[in-house]
Amino acid sequence: MHYESEMMSLGYNPEWSEGSVKPPIFLTSTFVFKTAEEGKRFFEIAYEKAKLNSEEKMGLIYSRINNPNMEILEERLAFLEKSEDAAAFESGMSAISTTMLAYLKPGDVLLYGNPIYGGTHHFITKFLKEFGVEIMPFSSSSKNDEILSKLKNKSIGNKVKMIYFETPANPTNTLFDLESIKDLKQSLFKLYKKEVISVIDNTYLGPIWQKPLLFNVDLVCYSATKFLNGHSDVIAGCVMGSKKAVSPVKTLRTFLGGMIAPYTAWLLTRSLETLSLRMKKQEENAKKVVSYLLEHSSVKKVLYPGIKSMGKSQTEIYKRQCLGSGALISFEVGGGEQSAFKILNNLKMIKLAVSLGSNESLAQHPFSMTHSDVPNKIKKSIGINEGLIRLSVGIENYEDIINDLKQAFNK
Ligand SMILES: *Cc1c(COP(=O)(O)O)cnc(C)c1O
Repeated sequence: MHYESEMMSLGYNPEWSEGSVKPPIFLTSTFVFKTAEEGKRFFEIAYEKAKLNSEEKMGLIYSRINNPNMEILEERLAFLEKSEDAAAFESGMSAISTTMLAYLKPGDVLLYGNPIYGGTHHFITKFLKEFGVEIMPFSSSSKNDEILSKLKNKSIGNKVKMIYFETPANPTNTLFDLESIKDLKQSLFKLYKKEVISVIDNTYLGPIWQKPLLFNVDLVCYSATKFLNGHSDVIAGCVMGSKKAVSPVKTLRTFLGGMIAPYTAWLLTRSLETLSLRMKKQEENAKKVVSYLLEHSSVKKVLYPGIKSMGKSQTEIYKRQCLGSGALISFEVGGGEQSAFKILNNLKMIKLAVSLGSNESLAQHPFSMTHSDVPNKIKKSIGINEGLIRLSVGIENYEDIINDLKQAFNK
């Protein structure tokens, strides 16, 4: 079936719980084994001392390792991403940091796309660097030849272990070319005969509008706090990919303990039932808001994937790799911080808050809020100016969203 239909029942059988149509919340830390032999066998499988044979089924042990709510959720997440496996976490940052720690050891090189989510940036540049991982940034305009020759000059090309990036970039909506990252990975393999793992943060457009696994990306990370949950009431994260690629992440999760809790998993499972409806409505609304902003005389610039003003090469990348443009719009007004703050302070329905992808519209000021940690010079060089506002469009009636902007602009 299609994903909209599968989200109603995949991975759950009403017979497990008195015919209950929806999965209950399995608030338990531990599970009863039928026999001691069964308990022994489950541990052998969980700790990878043995593999399941064809007529065996893995059972539940302890909720840090597995729990029905986590398993139902993971099955649905894998279905949405069309991946073999998924791992769910208590936050997006837990998913991202566990993935990095599962693959990177001191001495390895991490190539990372810039700009990147602030928390991820901090983890890479502060924690991983101190931990002994060599880090090297690249941008959406970096050519593969430049990256490869830089690695060669530093004699570190053979140490590259991971390419990590985010597209579209926040808050500029600049796209990284998935084909080009695939080529970079292949070139590194040809030159150094070492497997490099590519990892994308797909929070902004996935899983409906962007499918990176089709471009041979190995692992797809999410802050499920955003579109996947979409109700601003949960912090959660996940990682999807092949069984082989997800396996080290799941193993480390068992020991770092960032697995999703049963109640969080249950809420997120419920949200996935309406994911497609929400994301499609949010995009429809966002396009109407973009049209309004493009016509407004006080708006200097609108940043939104796929629109003409993003430039020819960006619209070409958009056509190749995006199925839709999503619900995040950035726009710049003249008059810098003063004008931007005046608009933000005068919004009535749209809430002044960070975060994104929720069913209600949110607005914030990247320069002084989500990106306040980024040095001013870098912010300006990538187009994060004092007059820039980021809008995450919700599912309200679009006329009310536009009217709210209109009255704030008028003030
Ligand atoms: C919010 C966000 C994160 C961090 O996720 P949390 O759920 O807040 O831990 C990571 N990446 C992106 C792109 C985000 O927007």
